Order: sequence, then C-alpha cells, then structure tokens
Amino acid sequence: MAMTGSGDVVVAAGQCSVDEPDVTMRVAHQLLAGGATMLRGGAYKPRTKPTSFQGRGKEALATLARAKEETGLPIVTELLDVRDLADVLEVADMIQVGARNMQNTGMLKTLGQVDCPVLLKRAFSATIDETVAAAEYIWRGGNERVILCERGIRTFEPAYRFTLDLAAVPILQKRSGLPVWVDPSHAPGRRDLVLRLSLAAIAVGADGLIVEVDEDPPTARSDPDQQLYSADFAIYLGKVRGLVEAMGRRIA
Ligand code: PEP
Ligand code: MN
Repeated sequence: MAMTGSGDVVVAAGQCSVDEPDVTMRVAHQLLAGGATMLRGGAYKPRTKPTSFQGRGKEALATLARAKEETGLPIVTELLDVRDLADVLEVADMIQVGARNMQNTGMLKTLGQVDCPVLLKRAFSATIDETVAAAEYIWRGGNERVILCERGIRTFEPAYRFTLDLAAVPILQKRSGLPVWVDPSHAPGRRDLVLRLSLAAIAVGADGLIVEVDEDPPTARSDPDQQLYSADFAIYLGKVRGLVEAMGRRIA
C-alpha cells in the first residue's frame, strides 16, 4: 500500500451497521459492481447512548463472512472490545479501531501482536501528534500494517457533526510514514456533503476513503442521515474516479 499519497486509492464502502443479511448481500453486490475495493460494516457499534442499537455482534460477523464469500470483497469491521478479537479476526481483513477507542492503549497493544492490518481512526479531540503516538503503540508491538483515518474533529461549529481536518492528511502522512484515509461520512454526518468531502480528500492526497452506504439509509438503525444510497454508489464512485485519474492515480 502506498505511503505517500500517490499510489492507488482504496475505497472501503458499506453499511454503518450490518442488520438484515439479505440487505447486506444486496448492498455488497452493488458496491462490487460500482467498483469498491473493500466492504465495511459494523457488527459492534460504539453508540453514544446505551439505549441505541448496539449492533448484531456475531450474527453480523457471519453476514459479513457471507458477503465476502459471495463478492470476494475484503472486509473492514470495528473491534469494540478486545474480548471479541478472535471472532472479528475470523472475518476481518482489516480491523477498525473507532475514534472512541483511539487511546485505548490496552487494545492498541493487543493489536500490535495481531497479524492483520489496523485502521486507526483519529479521536475527535486528538491532536496529530497524539494520533501518531497511538499508531506507534501498534507498530511497536510488531504490527506495522497500520492505516490512519481522519474522520473529523470536534470544533465549535454546529452546522455539521465534526470538522473534517483536511490539512491533517498530508501532515499525518509525513509524520507517520503511514497511509492516511479519510472518512467523508462521519465527519459531516450529512449525506449532501459526502461527495464533496470525498473529492476534497482525494485532492489533498488521501490514500483511501471509507464511506457509509446502505440500501435505504433513512431506515438504518445507525447513521441514517449520512449514508449514501447503494443505488447511487456507482455514480458517486465514478465522480471520485474522475478526480483520482485526473491526478494520475487509480482506484485500487
Ligand atoms: C464507524 O466508522 O462506524 C464509526 C463509528 O466511526 P467513528 O469511530 O469515526 O465515529
Ligand atoms: Mn456510522
């Protein structure tokens, strides 16, 4: 994987949370047809409120395994609790550490000993140095396959959920030597901004995108306002590809 913001661009796409298996299968096939590189999907969801949908856990992992078998798309999914590591490793080709766990140093040390790439999302209030230090916990343990992800930080602005820190992308690349992805979905929390922020991420040299897509987002049990419609994914990715190729790069 390129480390300089000049290699192939990875596009991981999929549902915020995996729910009904048939829906996930249809979404996965649409993403494959639309040109996605990887399938994302949450089995264990880090929700702000304990009364919100927490994800379908092992059932969702089984659904992801089936989607991978049917489409061949590699899976990225979040590890929320190290006690679930063995189950997650059975299906994940990349383990996501969510923003809320970026400084869970016990989890980071554990992932340092795992033979699987880790997508480490920047915490909402972490500086660039703190983000690189969190990655260091993983690679010092022996796992050098770490990818950072800028997913928006908390600022005073309420017009969107988080402020996407685009300047952090090249700085993180330079300071860490690691690939840096952008999450254009969780940053704004608004579907209408996802394409523009994706293009901005490509323009600033991101190594990958992780974008939320569902069949019927308004009925999703998490993040209904930001997910793209899977029926629109090919059009979305076509626009992203146009810029990627204009910059002399390719989608992986
Ligand atoms: C997610 O990607 O599903 C997620 C919860 O993102 P974050 O940890 O960035 O909030
Ligand atoms: Mn989400």
